[in-house]
Amino acid sequence: MPAFPLPLFPLGPQKPTTRDIANAVKAGGTAALTEAERRADEARYQEVTCRSALNRVEGMPFNWTLNPYRGCTHGCHYCFARRYHVQFEMNADDEFASVILVKHNLVEVLTRELDRPSWRRELVALGTATDPYQPIEGRYKLTRRAIAALARGRTPIGIVTKGPMVVRDIDVLLDHERSAGCTIYMSVPTVDEDAWRLLEPGTAHPLQRLRAVRDLVDAGLKAGVLMAPIVPGFSSSRAKLERTVKAIADHGARFVGCNVMHLQDGTRAHFMRFIERDFPSMLPRFEKLYAKKYPPDAYRKEVQGMVRALQQRYGLTRREDANDRDTTEPEVKEPEQVGFRW
Ligand code: SF4
Repeated sequence: MPAFPLPLFPLGPQKPTTRDIANAVKAGGTAALTEAERRADEARYQEVTCRSALNRVEGMPFNWTLNPYRGCTHGCHYCFARRYHVQFEMNADDEFASVILVKHNLVEVLTRELDRPSWRRELVALGTATDPYQPIEGRYKLTRRAIAALARGRTPIGIVTKGPMVVRDIDVLLDHERSAGCTIYMSVPTVDEDAWRLLEPGTAHPLQRLRAVRDLVDAGLKAGVLMAPIVPGFSSSRAKLERTVKAIADHGARFVGCNVMHLQDGTRAHFMRFIERDFPSMLPRFEKLYAKKYPPDAYRKEVQGMVRALQQRYGLTRREDANDRDTTEPEVKEPEQVGFRW
C-alpha cells in the first residue's frame, strides 16, 4: 500500500474544491496534490471546482472581486496576496508562486450569478488576490471568458495586472467598455531594472508593460498605471521616481496612481525573510520603518508628494483627478495599498 500520496479526493471528472485542497495539503503537504500538472515554468497547476465566482468584500472601495486563479507565478516579494495562500494551508513563500489553483468552472458559475435577478451590476474588481493575466491565462483563458460574461451581464469592471497579455483581450475589453465600462490599471511600480529583477522576479519587463498600456490606450480603452507599491530603498529615490513617471507619460497612460508598500501577516514575514537573506544590512531599517503595517505617515506623504510633483511636471493626470472619471472608479480611501484602490 503506498504510504503517500493518499487519494484524498475522488478521481474522475469532478475536481476538488478549495476546501478539499486545503484538507489534502493540511494532511500531506503540497505533495498530496497528485493531480496538479507541472508545466514548463516549474509551477504546479491544480484545477479546482469553485462554488461561487463573485466574492463579496468589505472595507474596500468596491464590493465584489473575481479571481480566476489563486497563487501567482509572478512571485513579487511584496505581494499583499501572499498571505491569502495560507487559507489553502500553503505557505506565503515558494508555494504562493509555485502552486496555482485554477478555477476551471469559474465562467459557468459566474454566468449563473450574473443572471440572478438580485444581481445589481456593481463594479467587480479583477486582480485583487492574484494576477488575472499571469502566464497560465494563456492556456485557460478564464479571464478573457469572464470579461465576456461580465460584458453580457452589463457589469462594470476594473482590472489590475502586471501581465502584458491583457492586449490579447482588446477585443473583449472594447465590447465590455461599450456595454458597461472597464478601466485597466497596469501595475508598474518602477522602471528601474535592478528593483524589477529583485522584487518582481516572474513579471514582464516594466517597459513591456508600458507598451501594453500604449496599445490599450491607442485602442480606445481607459488604461493607466499604478506605481504601486513603491518599495523604500529599492524604488523610492527621486531619480528612480522621475524616470518612472517620465516613462509612464511617454507611453500615453491616461492616469497614474501611486502608493508606498505596506506589510501584513504572511507577506510581512516573507518580505522580511527575503531582506534578511539577500540584503541583511537593510533589515534594521525595514524593521524600523515597518514597525506597524504602514510606514509612518510623514514618509508616505513625502514619497507621494514627490510623485505628484513629477506627475505635474510630465503632464500626467492623477488617477483621482481624471476628467473622465465615472462610477467604475470608486473613491480612493486612505490608507490602502494601491492594489486595493480603484
Ligand atoms: S503580479 Fe500582483 S498578484 Fe502576482 S505576485 Fe505580483 S503583486 Fe502579487
